[in-house]
Amino acid sequence: MKTYFATDLDMVLADSMPVWIYGLYVKYGYFTLKNYKIQVNGICQKEISKFIYERLLLRSNRIQPIKPSVEALPKILELFDQKYIPIITSRNKNLFNCTEKWCQKNLSIPFKLFFTDGIDADKLKIILENDIHYFADDRFRTVNDIAPFIKTSFLINYKWNADRKEHQNVIRKDNLAQVLEYLKDKLINE
Ligand SMILES: [Mg+2]
Repeated sequence: MKTYFATDLDMVLADSMPVWIYGLYVKYGYFTLKNYKIQVNGICQKEISKFIYERLLLRSNRIQPIKPSVEALPKILELFDQKYIPIITSRNKNLFNCTEKWCQKNLSIPFKLFFTDGIDADKLKIILENDIHYFADDRFRTVNDIAPFIKTSFLINYKWNADRKEHQNVIRKDNLAQVLEYLKDKLINE
């Protein structure tokens, strides 16, 4: 059976956090980011999500690629002889155009975008439907929930996912260049 690799977009390939984190601070002042949940005193999650959505829409062209990960993509594609890399994002579908444009500009590989509109459980559905056996994401819960159903779920290390005990199928790496090295070793030894 054909084995596929897929990845999340934000904070794996796209360094998108700086475009909204400063704006959030300017607008609301103090906020916390714990277990992937942003909390601002007196502001509901819906309003925070709307703010981030608008920043991503307005500032998409300022988002920098995460170089080691983006540069590893062509080699991962080659490794599995894949036609394209599925990119599974929890972004809202309304961000399709700016997301597609960003990927066309910054990724030198064929890709296919999947949007879950903030519903992270849908990532597993997409993974199962598309025969994906390896997946990388920076969100602890997503990676952990997916882990029992695929070969390896890669968790990209960040402070928001540190100090938590992951599922046995989860492997922590700093970027996709490290994931590539791991996959190469694994395939050679299989
Ligand atoms: Mg992410």
